[in-house]
Amino acid sequence: MKLAIDRILQSQGFGTRKGCRELVTDGDVSINGEVIDNWRTVVETDGLVITLFGEEDWPYHAQVYAALNKPSNYECSRKPSHHPGILTLLPEPLRWRDVQPVGRLDHDTTGLILLSDDGAFIHAQSHPRHHQPKTYMATLAEPATQALADELVRGVQLHDEPAPIAALSAKLLDPTHLEIMLDQGKYHQVKRMLAAAGNHCAALTRVAIGGLTLASLNLAEGEWCYLSADQITALN
Ligand code: URA
Repeated sequence: MKLAIDRILQSQGFGTRKGCRELVTDGDVSINGEVIDNWRTVVETDGLVITLFGEEDWPYHAQVYAALNKPSNYECSRKPSHHPGILTLLPEPLRWRDVQPVGRLDHDTTGLILLSDDGAFIHAQSHPRHHQPKTYMATLAEPATQALADELVRGVQLHDEPAPIAALSAKLLDPTHLEIMLDQGKYHQVKRMLAAAGNHCAALTRVAIGGLTLASLNLAEGEWCYLSADQITALN
């Protein structure tokens, strides 16, 4: 698609249309390595790289599909109350673009969370009917046997649920580490299922969403990355 530079900069989260025009006329913007100081210049967006102030490279993204390795003590809410919000871990242009977390993790849960500014993608990924499988690694407070994992797959009764809730799969990796896959996203689901089975969750990390694993992204805690088309496909 071809667009004027001021519109491109605004769409990428570099400020208001007026502010973006000023950046261009001040000579602070390079497009594909070349300083362009006329904001009316029309360029192809496909494969375009914007450089700001001669140092920061920003590949053009029509929409943002990103993943974050969430650290503990961050809230997923857009209006966090007790801890900083995970959006503060993103660079400013992404925050200007109205990027939002896809679903929630508890403030003390770490690991993979998706972020996007594509409402249809957020809706599809987080809708309960989508039954997106999510895999967690739980550290158990009490040593357990595979019998605990088997019980979680058969189903456990949670207080406010009409019927038992079952994991898609569960595997005890060692006496205090359980890998559990769910296709629902009920409030505190892993922690409540473990409590219902007589154990306690000491720590929780989400390690995969669909076929996209946290390990494959190589992100340190607090780091984020854009997802490639193949990684987005791996989600489903
Ligand atoms: N289950 C939980 O208990 N907490 C999370 O953050 C995610 C799943």
